[in-house]
Amino acid sequence: MIQLSNIHKSYPLGNSSMKVLKGIDLTINEGELVAIMGASGSGKSTLLNILGILDNYDEGNYYLNNTLIKNLSETQAAQYRNKFLGFIFQSFNLLSFKNAMENVALPLYYQGIGRKKRNEIALEYLDQMGLKDWANHLPSELSGGQKQRVAIARSLITKPKLILADEPTGALDSKTSEDVMEILKNLHQKGLTIIIVTHENEVAEKTQRIIRLKDGLIVNQ
Ligand code: ADP
Ligand code: MG
Repeated sequence: MIQLSNIHKSYPLGNSSMKVLKGIDLTINEGELVAIMGASGSGKSTLLNILGILDNYDEGNYYLNNTLIKNLSETQAAQYRNKFLGFIFQSFNLLSFKNAMENVALPLYYQGIGRKKRNEIALEYLDQMGLKDWANHLPSELSGGQKQRVAIARSLITKPKLILADEPTGALDSKTSEDVMEILKNLHQKGLTIIIVTHENEVAEKTQRIIRLKDGLIVNQ
């Protein structure tokens, strides 16, 4: 599903640049549940953003579903993201002025689906997360765990093949983190490919494979 070869990425820094990824080779097969670990600043989010076509890379090749992801237009990138990918973030990234149902429905808005239909579908996904009764509540009225379940429902509504999660439990207490990991494991058992960036051993231990980043390279996998 994912093939990276010799991926390099630098960020501009003053008059020079800072190398963050220095030659990443990585294959992830369909149906895997993978953790990416590494110290803060080791390039985990940079790598995940490249995988999610949220950012470009400087060198190397990235194939997603046998398609070379390189120099895509913003429209093409958005199409691939919509078709294949679901995102979950540490800070949930919910819109504060929209209720839970509207947040979950948002990706369908970008697909041109009408309000009634998309809210109906969003309710089904909220229901799967045990949050149907919270549909009309704003994010500020939800606990951290509930917010992350809303975000998971939102990530699923476009029926992605690959879920990319950047520190999905980073803002949650340990019991709530376990609940979120149970949800992700269940989704994996239903066939989704899932990549989780984390620096928590308890989270990584629940995956099948741990990829470790150090100084811009993979040190073992
Ligand atoms: P991690 O997620 O492992 O903590 P990141 O991928 O976020 O690490 O960052 C790796 C390095 O790249 C850090 O030193 C960070 O400061 C730098 N960095 C990340 N994003 C940017 C950016 N958009 N512009 C400049 N530097 C960045
Ligand atoms: Mg990060």
